[in-house]
Amino acid sequence: MKPLLGEEEAEAAAAAVRSGWVAQGPRVARFEEVFARRVGAAHGVAASSCTTALHLAAHLLGVGPGDEVVVPSLSFIATANAVHHTGATPVFADVDPETGNLTADTVAAVLTDRTRAVLVVHQAGVPADVAGLRALCDPLAVPVVEDAACAAGSTYLGAPVGAGALLAAWSFHPRKLLTTGEGGMLTTDRADWAARAKRLREHGMSVSAADRHRGGAAVVEEYLETAFNYRMTDVQAAIGVVQLSRLDGIVRRRRELAARYQELLAGVPGLRTVRDPAHGTTNYQSFWVRLPDDAQVERNDVLAELARRGVSARRGIMASHLEPAYAGHPHTALPVTEDFTRRTLILPLHHDLTTAEQDTVVDALTAALGAGAALR
Ligand SMILES: *Cc1c(COP(=O)(O)O)cnc(C)c1O
Repeated sequence: MKPLLGEEEAEAAAAAVRSGWVAQGPRVARFEEVFARRVGAAHGVAASSCTTALHLAAHLLGVGPGDEVVVPSLSFIATANAVHHTGATPVFADVDPETGNLTADTVAAVLTDRTRAVLVVHQAGVPADVAGLRALCDPLAVPVVEDAACAAGSTYLGAPVGAGALLAAWSFHPRKLLTTGEGGMLTTDRADWAARAKRLREHGMSVSAADRHRGGAAVVEEYLETAFNYRMTDVQAAIGVVQLSRLDGIVRRRRELAARYQELLAGVPGLRTVRDPAHGTTNYQSFWVRLPDDAQVERNDVLAELARRGVSARRGIMASHLEPAYAGHPHTALPVTEDFTRRTLILPLHHDLTTAEQDTVVDALTAALGAGAALR
């Protein structure tokens, strides 16, 4: 991944600095408004990261000690950590082998009477089947929260991912399609949740510092509950507004490059690539490939060979339950997750990738796999 940042972002950041107001202020409010509109939500609450936005979502739902929250193990570890830091227990569920996402079946297998929420991830930008999960969870009054860290610009059932979500959390880390350096957002249609999330991210203050400043009159704020500092800065938000204007172009370019990868790799027997699911379109946040079942090379050896040939690939999506941080954490059998994490890798994909570079990646990958075949 390589962020797409231009002079416009530099200018916007400079304008925020010159304005003299660099903490959370008018530019954050503007970014919240335009981002929420773009993803089809009524309200946006900017945060310091997706991880803190997820933590806010869990707090809004009252998740805490004694509760269980279902999460995929197959995700960046922040998904599980956001639950862990509320005092609740992350309960790992397995995923669908085609999409890498939770399904109603994998979630149903781990529901208990202590399940307080389900945190579904649109992994690598591939939209999860949220309607299927809601059909399972709504009758049980178990809210479905969406980790949409990777999914800006993906679509589900013809609408942007995020439209109709109870709560969705987004990331603006440079690893994602849109970046503000660091940053996140919580989106929701519920005004009461948005208002409380805005308070929770700013120490529980009854009136924000920006509003007190704007109001002019003397206002003494109150601290209504013990809360956090999860604010975004106006410098970040200024960059975010410009980044958002690039989203459609970024997604279009990534989908073109992904289609070309798919075409070039179609001839490699048994190799599977990430694709659009039946119910939506992916932004190709990450272009993962799954090695053939009968591959004679280990994934890490493929990565090493690619690196030797100057190709910067990465391991596929991690499995949180296999990391030392969750050693000893009880979980059900997660066979699809373990296979997925062991056999997948992520190929380079960014806006300015050239077709020549793409050819180099494909040649290196076929050579790495072929080298294994020759050893057979
Ligand atoms: C990147 C990512 C996060 C964390 O985002 P930050 O903004 O770095 O906190 C959480 N969940 C998923 C699925 C991610 O890919």
